[in-house]
Amino acid sequence: MGSLRMEHVTKRYDDVVAVDDMNLDIEDSEFICLVGPSGCGKSTTLEMIGGLTTPSEGHVYIGDREVTDLPPKDRGLAMVFQNIALFPHMDVYDNISYGLRLRNFPDDEIDERVDEAAEILQLQGMLDRMPSELSGGQRQRVAIGRAIVRDPDVFLMDEPLANLDAKLRVHMRTELQRLQRQLDVTTIYVTHDQEEAMTMSDRIAVINQGELQQIAPPLTCYNEPANLFVAGFIGSPSMNFFEGRVDGTTLAFDSFDIDISNVDIPDGMTNVTLGVRQEDVYPVDQADSLAAASEAITATVDVLEPIGEQIFVYLDTGVEMADVGVETEDDDVGADVDSLLMGVEPDYQLAEGDEIEVVFDRSKLHLFDTATGEAIAHDTTAKQVVDEPQ
Ligand code: ADP
Repeated sequence: MGSLRMEHVTKRYDDVVAVDDMNLDIEDSEFICLVGPSGCGKSTTLEMIGGLTTPSEGHVYIGDREVTDLPPKDRGLAMVFQNIALFPHMDVYDNISYGLRLRNFPDDEIDERVDEAAEILQLQGMLDRMPSELSGGQRQRVAIGRAIVRDPDVFLMDEPLANLDAKLRVHMRTELQRLQRQLDVTTIYVTHDQEEAMTMSDRIAVINQGELQQIAPPLTCYNEPANLFVAGFIGSPSMNFFEGRVDGTTLAFDSFDIDISNVDIPDGMTNVTLGVRQEDVYPVDQADSLAAASEAITATVDVLEPIGEQIFVYLDTGVEMADVGVETEDDDVGADVDSLLMGVEPDYQLAEGDEIEVVFDRSKLHLFDTATGEAIAHDTTAKQVVDEPQ
């Protein structure tokens, strides 16, 4: 059984709380990505599952067995790391079978398992090659082969694709997903790359500063982020944020208001942060299809960034954007926290310096408690009015 549970797991290094009261409940054969910025505690979490690090507090279970204090070799796991440590003086066959030999498996069973792994990983015909004769992707496949032949209950992978070039990384992502479906083995995969997490996982566990922020399917994290951190971290480009003041049934900003009459704002809450993704911002003349548009906001086009399938438009609304303090590795789109980012069709005519009116899709607006960051609503149109039975 490859289910996995962490109960109130904390890891401290002197003053540093690397992992803070982590609770995870992972089902058999799930593909889970642990994602978050560098230093948030992903590797430490994985190491505690793998038995490379002992928790300061809490319990780890694999299947029905508590493994908190068991050595790695007794946990039924196989691990694949970023640094592919193949033995340079051994060929592919010996590299893949090394662990089985250590455990004194009979020769014919070793042959069988290596052949099976080689077939799954398309390494047939390469078994007598030395690591120096392999490409980066092939070497990574050998490292994965070494994990597969162990027939583990759980795979642990720590940034296994980080050292590959961008194109190969995307290719290996697809391969890993296919492999995981084929083997049907519970997989815990660490990455700092939210896009990798979005594309591969059944569920994403978003971690910040040692604390689990949300664990949910990728699209739930995207559409219904539990808090400002998840909202800012998941999705590229990052969400736009504005800090507003609650004024009766409106959320007020310096030059526009958002109707929040359909949202239950907790009593006494005055500071609410608005979040809107670039795809939910429209030029007024493109907003006909929207069931509920916000009031028009006047903005000046600051920068245009054509990226092929659309144009990113950076807008100056005169309202200061909120910096929610989420650092993403999202350098390629040059996101500027002072601009409102809108995506438009590639043939939409605009020039830098133009003044335009834009609206938001009110059914896609996110509201957060500015003080705690917790989400309040992910749609400002829908009040669930439940008819009382007569
Ligand atoms: P991530 O994998 O998300 O980058 P880590 O789990 O490696 O993060 O680290 C989490 C925090 O714990 C960081 O602040 C890191 O410096 C600290 N840390 C990790 N390992 C050790 C260690 N062996 N000794 C002291 N501090 C550590």
